[in-house]
Amino acid sequence: MFGWLLKKLAITTGYIANYGYTDGSGDWYIIVDSDKCDGCGKCVEACPRNVLEVITDDYDDLVVAIRKEHRKNVKYVCAPCKPTSGPRDIKCQQACPTGAITHSW
Ligand code: SF4
Ligand code: SF4
Repeated sequence: MFGWLLKKLAITTGYIANYGYTDGSGDWYIIVDSDKCDGCGKCVEACPRNVLEVITDDYDDLVVAIRKEHRKNVKYVCAPCKPTSGPRDIKCQQACPTGAITHSW
């Protein structure tokens, strides 16, 4: 009974956070699924550009977020992981054990 209730609450409080912007060249968003993210911080440690941070959200859960100063420049700050040509090496996604963080481009 309590297990079902906890699961129901988790479903109710889950959300998808989209950090980024759309401009004339495309959609540039980093997307965090709060149902999958437990705030472990592995993606934060893996990021070479200090783009990410773990925060406490409105539901008092730990979850990763994109630092405010990078929410309008992810296309550029993430370019070392995702060049416009050549192989990609998306360290935050590779570090995440649950697939909680994805990108729109
Ligand atoms: S793509 Fe690279 S620079 Fe951008 S948040 Fe992920 S690890 Fe950091
Ligand atoms: S590695 Fe995955 S689960 Fe851990 S904080 Fe980052 S997005 Fe969340």
